[in-house]
Amino acid sequence: MARLLILGAGIAGHTAALHARSLLGSNHEVVVVSPNSQWNWIPSNIWVGTGYMKPEQVTFALAPVYQKLGVPFYQAKAVSLHPEGDSRQSKPFVSIEYTSSEKRGQIEQLTYDYLINATGPKLNFDATAGLGPEKNSLSVCTYGHAAQTASALEESIQRMKRGERQTLLIGTGHGNCTCQGAAFEYLFNVEFELRRQRVRDKARLVWISNEAELGDFGMGGMFIKRGGYITHSRVFTESLYTERGVEWITQAHVKEVLCGETAYETLDGEEKSVKHDFAMLLPPFSGVSLRAYNKANEDITSQLFAPNGFMLVDGDYAKKPYDEWKPEDWPETYQSPKYKNIFAVGIAFAPPHPISKPMTSVKGTPIFPTPPRTGMPSGVMARQVAYNIVDMMKGKASEPTRKASLARMGAACIASAGANSLSGSAVSMTIYPIVPDFNTYPDTGRALRYTSGEIGLAGHWIKHLLHFAFLYKAKAKPLWRVVPE
Ligand SMILES: Cc1cc2nc3c(=O)[nH]c(=O)nc-3n(C[C@H](O)[C@H](O)[C@H](O)COP(=O)(O)OP(=O)(O)OC[C@H]3O[C@@H](n4cnc5c(N)ncnc54)[C@H](O)[C@@H]3O)c2cc1C
Repeated sequence: MARLLILGAGIAGHTAALHARSLLGSNHEVVVVSPNSQWNWIPSNIWVGTGYMKPEQVTFALAPVYQKLGVPFYQAKAVSLHPEGDSRQSKPFVSIEYTSSEKRGQIEQLTYDYLINATGPKLNFDATAGLGPEKNSLSVCTYGHAAQTASALEESIQRMKRGERQTLLIGTGHGNCTCQGAAFEYLFNVEFELRRQRVRDKARLVWISNEAELGDFGMGGMFIKRGGYITHSRVFTESLYTERGVEWITQAHVKEVLCGETAYETLDGEEKSVKHDFAMLLPPFSGVSLRAYNKANEDITSQLFAPNGFMLVDGDYAKKPYDEWKPEDWPETYQSPKYKNIFAVGIAFAPPHPISKPMTSVKGTPIFPTPPRTGMPSGVMARQVAYNIVDMMKGKASEPTRKASLARMGAACIASAGANSLSGSAVSMTIYPIVPDFNTYPDTGRALRYTSGEIGLAGHWIKHLLHFAFLYKAKAKPLWRVVPE
């Protein structure tokens, strides 16, 4: 019997677990380690953050689902990897530390034959002074943060109802943030909520981000074909901000969040600040802090992980100027070059370089988005990696055969811009490929045929439908495979 050990039960890890368990017979084991007892459909956290949904509508308990599937589940966090075993254990193993109330703090070793690291991001609030829900700003990254943010928003709305004016600052809290799309969704859901509660005239809404221009979204922006002409996502996004009365600050590295004021540096080196009554600023991401040790118990973390904590896989990590970036730099199989039985999927793998053009302020501060890794690609790469590992466990292949490069993959994303089944809207975007390929598509880097953007009510319905569809799938209910990643 061989064991596939999966670290992390988020979008990527849980997808890998579902597929691997359904494909492997009872001869092999699939084991999941994750610190949270709940599964969270993170994209709907933005709706928790406005009070449109409650945390229990975006979560469910993982243990009963894994019990139904026959997947041993350890509510614990992985602490260290030992890919060669150690002096007492000949097999590779992972040290885990329990987080469940019954066993909190206890350490255990779990051996594996194959390992998937799907531990997602560490929310690195410490990178910016004063950033985060324990300090001076709010977040929607977890359902707990989002619920706290909803209370703060409600308080702000009550003040507006009493006649006070409020400034709401929404965006990214560091020069190297990703996930601009999530902050964008939150911005427009707040704007919608303010209108719904008839206090929009009392609010100044300000967007702040590290993008070079609106509509970059960490993907270097995109060209889309609309009504017979080609336009850029910057034009599309600026129109939306103008139409909904949102001010914007781009090219900003947030340096410090104080109570009621955020200080930032711009690409041209200016030091500025914006005052606010409410600030929802996403943190930058790093990898979760896993260490790695060889058989002699020497620290080999730097051989498995990039300095930012993300796992090195089969990408080309050689440092190159922007002009020399190639689609081939991007990983295809997500296999560790050092240990062939280790894989990293979702946010946990180290991208070879950004997608947006790197920019540095005149003072030398890097200010540009790091690559977005949204749910659909995370799920697709997790599925492909699970299939590859299953083949290897069953002896059908000796190496990964399926590929899932972001430079050969398209993505669809629906960004909510107001949640209501009659008056809501959402921006529906498709993009192909995610990483631009200027060799194949010299003018725009992407296939215009498959790269589109449209805003409307239908997008909201689809977003809402997908909320239920993905929760249904994650609960492994009958025919869950019909729901795509
Ligand atoms: C507010 C918000 C809104 C978003 N909206 C969208 C959207 O509309 N569409 C979209 O496509 N994408 C969206 N995204 C992005 C999407 O959520 C991510 O792409 C996706 O969650 C990545 O999946 P993942 O499995 O890599 O990471 P996660 O889903 O974060 O999962 C990581 C898992 O690892 C676990 N873990 C952490 N540390 C350890 C450890 N030491 N050991 C074991 N397990 C560990 C975590 O508890 C978690 O279960 C949004 C993100 C945010 C923050």
